[in-house]
Amino acid sequence: MVTVAEARFLILVIALLALKIRILADRDSLTGLWTRRIMHQQLINHARSSDRHQSVFSVLLIDLDYFKNINDKFGHQIGDQALVHASQCFKQVLRPEDWLARYGGEEFLVLLPDTDTANARMIAERIRQQLVKQPFTPAAGLLLTASIGVATYHNGEDIEQLIAKVDSALYQAKAQGRNQVCITENQSSDLSAS
Ligand code: GH3
Ligand code: MG
Ligand code: MG
Repeated sequence: MVTVAEARFLILVIALLALKIRILADRDSLTGLWTRRIMHQQLINHARSSDRHQSVFSVLLIDLDYFKNINDKFGHQIGDQALVHASQCFKQVLRPEDWLARYGGEEFLVLLPDTDTANARMIAERIRQQLVKQPFTPAAGLLLTASIGVATYHNGEDIEQLIAKVDSALYQAKAQGRNQVCITENQSSDLSAS
């Protein structure tokens, strides 16, 4: 027979385990950032809310430059530390209401609520500069830079379209030489409108 005290203890243990599983599922194990799955949920929520209230939000897709070379030159462990360092640099610039996720290996996605293209570009530029100016002490001579795509959600769009836009802006930043911020061509009108 299980006593009341034992039953309470078991319930507490189960609740703690459930919480731990939730944290493991929602957070990236290396950086502690939100996962791609959580980011997708947030993008859908923000798109719905934006359609309803005519509010604006933007996204940034950040990709660390020549990261394969960093691993090759300094080793995978230093590469891992550089990913944590980069995520801390991004957090220093972002506001508490922004969402930052590890989107892939060395790719990060930022959701900026209530932010138009001009402001999103400014934040992206601050992030880029923060990474360049913040020294990464574990490996002398390692220069970490990022290319960043910027896109703004347009009412009625689906999330895949938004991701395609920001991906194409990132592609442009890479093609133009890396360590820079780009917005997609058809988003330039957002800048003149703001
Ligand atoms: P580009 O400037 O075009 O983005 O070049 P890149 O080398 O950054 O891009 P590429 O896609 O060729 O390589 C990405 C590298 O990121 C390769 C992969 O080993 C590394 N990477 C991905 N995830 C991790 C990780 O968790 N830890 C470490 N150390 N490296 C990772
Ligand atoms: Mg990449
Ligand atoms: Mg890269």
